[in-house]
Amino acid sequence: MKRLCTLLFLASFPAFLAAQTPTVEYKLSMSRPWTHLFEVEVMFDRLPSAEKSLDLVLPVWRTGRYTVFDFAGGVVRFSAADGRGNLLPVTKMDKTSWRIATGGSASVTARYEVYADEFNLRTRGLNDEHGFVDGTAVFMYSPAYRQRPLTLTVVPYEGWHVTTGLDSVAGKRFVFTAPGYDHLADCPLEIGTQRDHSFLVAGTPHVLSISGPTNCIPDSLVALASRIVRMNADYWGSLPYKRYVFILHAMADPGGATEHVNSTVLDISSSRLRTPDPCQNLIGMFSHEFFHTWNVKQFRPKGMDPYDWTKENYYRELWLVEGGTSYLHGLLLARNGYTSPKGYIDGIHWQIEGDRQRPGNKEESIAECSFDAWVKYSRYLPQSYNFGAELYGRGAQVSMLLDLTIRGESENKASLDDLMRALSKRFPAGSGGYTLDDVEKIAVELGGDRLHAFFSRHVHGTVPLDWETVLAYAGLTVSPVEGSERTWLGVTTADQGEKTIVRQVVAGSPAYDAGVNNGDEILALNGYRVRTADLVSRVPEMKPGEKVTLSLFRDDELRTFEISLRKQEVPSYKVTKVEKPTALQKKIMESWLKVDWQQL
Ligand SMILES: [Zn+2]
Repeated sequence: MKRLCTLLFLASFPAFLAAQTPTVEYKLSMSRPWTHLFEVEVMFDRLPSAEKSLDLVLPVWRTGRYTVFDFAGGVVRFSAADGRGNLLPVTKMDKTSWRIATGGSASVTARYEVYADEFNLRTRGLNDEHGFVDGTAVFMYSPAYRQRPLTLTVVPYEGWHVTTGLDSVAGKRFVFTAPGYDHLADCPLEIGTQRDHSFLVAGTPHVLSISGPTNCIPDSLVALASRIVRMNADYWGSLPYKRYVFILHAMADPGGATEHVNSTVLDISSSRLRTPDPCQNLIGMFSHEFFHTWNVKQFRPKGMDPYDWTKENYYRELWLVEGGTSYLHGLLLARNGYTSPKGYIDGIHWQIEGDRQRPGNKEESIAECSFDAWVKYSRYLPQSYNFGAELYGRGAQVSMLLDLTIRGESENKASLDDLMRALSKRFPAGSGGYTLDDVEKIAVELGGDRLHAFFSRHVHGTVPLDWETVLAYAGLTVSPVEGSERTWLGVTTADQGEKTIVRQVVAGSPAYDAGVNNGDEILALNGYRVRTADLVSRVPEMKPGEKVTLSLFRDDELRTFEISLRKQEVPSYKVTKVEKPTALQKKIMESWLKVDWQQL
């Protein structure tokens, strides 16, 4: 008898548990897409009766963009009801949180609409042609049930369909599941008449989805995507997903691209897709975004693992996320024949010049630059060039030198590739993330104690990058091009209609020292009207020491500056291979670029 009771209890236990386990369901509709309003329902069932209130929160930022958007600004007509349809009291708790007084009701449905007209921010957009949803910008979550598995039912506008990385529910069209809110938030949805092209890589299904006007040949884009996937699968050893979606938006005003856990959103100018070979325009973007499938999705900094959706997430490792990806996605393209190895080496001089010309690289370390991305990177700040490092560019430069330093110090036994794979193995997403100390520790394991100095000088510090010493590890010589120091004024301008506006004045330049400001409207040089093209062509032809008169408007007042031109301090450089490499230099070069030394 006792045994029978036990069996009965065990048999009923899962049902008992299920009855007590709250469920979370989302419904997304768009009955009038031309109004830009998404209609959202979030339904909770089986809530414990002891719970008298339920909080709902809309994130303030989305993954892949380090800025606070305050998505709640687009929420209208918020209401909540119990299982019988009775309206429940709602109190706004802060800018992005709503508290529903549930009174212990087991069923609660929150309804609201979201104004969506920001396609080029890749947050949310809806019009009479299609809809796009980054979950953070549209779906609220309950902090108490953020980890609960959920379903999403999409009701597309008539004739539209849904493309997303979310898993579908078998037999139900447009019904999807996610193991928790964070996955929903990281699986954007394209809803419209997009053309979906399916293909397999290593037996894994992929979809390339194109929306917007374009006459490009989908086959060539599919071939490009396949090659990029294969290239990364070879690099990392396997593909970390069951299915992957490339969402391509051809649009007039593209804003860039964003990586997600098993998808990416690529905004492309429609006109670029009409060129004879659109792939050439897209290869860098595809390569960069896809590399992020690992670097920031499979492993990420501690400050974003887990994500805090309510405020800025701080990390000093963002240079490795963005700059590391920029460097390695380019390196993979060179290793796989998309860039010629010689062209890759020749192009390094741009990096050296860009690094040495930017005054901000002496002012802000790449770790500080990472930490401050929230207040600096995603907005135009006229002082950035003079006072700050550039996250992607400087991050890529530091990553390249870190790679070659590890290779040199380890006698080519290890590299940044090993560091990346170690991060992936030791800090899988969801485990709490890695810190800069972890990165340094692995670098030292791979390249020895001297790597400590690299981190203190070039990651935490602003000691200038020693390109000459580090490139020599790979048998490369850096030499200044004789006579390349050009006469300069130190301003960058942009033509805006009839006006020539100063966009940047380089610290330490003749214009800076004379008092020229950002926003000044330049009228004439030595009494003659100049536009941007004139300044670019005429100033370098003048002699250092020559005095010029620059006339400009500032706040509608005519101002005249006497400026003594000087030589730009940073010359042009050329990077060439040494005549007689050591065996180690040769080995490093050949494993770095996967090229035969003789072919360079
Ligand atoms: Zn990126």
